[in-house]
Amino acid sequence: MTRERPDRTLAIGLDWIEQHCVVPDGFKRGRPFRLYDFQLRYLAAFYLVKGTAEWDPDDPQLGPAFVYRRGLLADPQKKGKGPLSSAHVCLEGAGPALFAGWAGPGDGYSCRANGCGCGWEYAYEIGEPMGMHWPTPLIQITALSEEQTDNIYGALRPMIELGPLADVIPATGEQFIRLPGGGRIDTVTSSAQSRLGQRVTFVPQDEVGLWTEANRMMKVADTQYRGLAGMGGRASLTTNAWDPAERSVAQMQYESRARDVYRQFIQPPANLSYRNKVERRRIHRLVYGEALKENGGHVDLDAIEAEAADLLERDPAQAERFFGNRIVYGQGSWLKQDVWPFGKAARPATDGFPKSKVCGGFDGSLNNDFTAIRLETVDGVVFTPRYGPDRRPTIWNPAEWPGEEIPRGEVRAAISEVFDVYDVERFYFDPEDWESEIDAWAAAHGEKRVLYWRTNRITPMYDALRRIETDLITGTLLSDDCPITQVHVANARKVAKAGQKYVLGKPNEHQKIDAAMATILAHEAAADARIDGWGRRKVAYAYSA
Ligand SMILES: [Zn+2]
Repeated sequence: MTRERPDRTLAIGLDWIEQHCVVPDGFKRGRPFRLYDFQLRYLAAFYLVKGTAEWDPDDPQLGPAFVYRRGLLADPQKKGKGPLSSAHVCLEGAGPALFAGWAGPGDGYSCRANGCGCGWEYAYEIGEPMGMHWPTPLIQITALSEEQTDNIYGALRPMIELGPLADVIPATGEQFIRLPGGGRIDTVTSSAQSRLGQRVTFVPQDEVGLWTEANRMMKVADTQYRGLAGMGGRASLTTNAWDPAERSVAQMQYESRARDVYRQFIQPPANLSYRNKVERRRIHRLVYGEALKENGGHVDLDAIEAEAADLLERDPAQAERFFGNRIVYGQGSWLKQDVWPFGKAARPATDGFPKSKVCGGFDGSLNNDFTAIRLETVDGVVFTPRYGPDRRPTIWNPAEWPGEEIPRGEVRAAISEVFDVYDVERFYFDPEDWESEIDAWAAAHGEKRVLYWRTNRITPMYDALRRIETDLITGTLLSDDCPITQVHVANARKVAKAGQKYVLGKPNEHQKIDAAMATILAHEAAADARIDGWGRRKVAYAYSA
């Protein structure tokens, strides 16, 4: 009879770190490095071994023994991500970082047998995972700039030099560190394209909230993941909270559905405001927790408050991300997070009910941007309707259709269904690339209902933006939770125009805003219609003779 084995952490690795790594700086410099609970929790997950893992000494199964292929840790500035990564590099470079089978009676690990003179020994419990060293560890500490790789590398050198690891790793250089067995630790940035990802066994990727397609770090990450996959190696990603309009590596890894990525990111409760001094202090207490001096840690709360206050004046969104550990949209984003109804989405009471009263907005395209239809109910809920036998949402991504073109037949069918199902009062269409269809719809459904509304006119567009912004802030307008619209709203950036006006633009070609534009058009149609009496109760005057 076989009994199923539970997943278990390679605990020896965590003990090995506390035994061999030392505090790299500060008053406790040179003393044994003690992992905080948040660091322990992260490493315990990173080194979680699958209960089903098998080990064959002639063909050691490397990376796949672990539950997670990579880890992502998002925590505020100065909490201790850098020293954690340095300690992690030490373990992967010179400690028992790999699974080496399940322990039986009398099994143990001794430093002496592994080239370390410190005399440490570890006795395994029966059934716990055993550890072994990488034969030739190749580690690339990777960041956007050399200054950032120094956050880890700068802590790594004293961590090795001032403790027992100095015996194992005799030379730590300015540029790289040679490891036993012909291994090495390098620092790389995007400028080192040729060396990236070659036969790497461990890659700490730092500040991945800043890694984007535009600065070529997205490609760096992919190259390294491919290299790691070939070696059975793994990556550890660390970051501050990110700007969700940037579509960074941090965001992609956090939002991806992959189940073999471990994500550790605890945001403060949404009801606490970072602008309010008292609440800000509570947020800092929550996100720094055990790392604060008042709790026995290294972080001075007052110093953090002072730095945060300083940065708040220059860049409030960045201050909230850096010290408040919150995902916040950057400056220039169209709507602030708390304005768009993320998380408290409304369900239109009338959606799907035949002949309910709506107004509509349409933003069309040929094959580059999305084409989108959004509707607004008479009581002020904007939503993405569905159409056809599969009840598809009325937002079309050309990349998902044959020839990578907008399926115009589908769009025509959807428009026809909207006019059939709903009592459409007014529908605004951005006519670009769709004039002939729109003219046909006007002929079919009436020129008072089907109207051109060109979004490239600065003043009307600015007025429409101010109107929808006000109505969102006051709660007069609510939105459904359409995920594509959420992303497009988040992508939308303000583009300054003369006369202190602005319109909306996309941050780059890959970040679309069409569903946001259709939303603005639907609301503009509804707001104009209300002025003309739409939805007003008909007053009946009765005259008696
Ligand atoms: Zn040792």
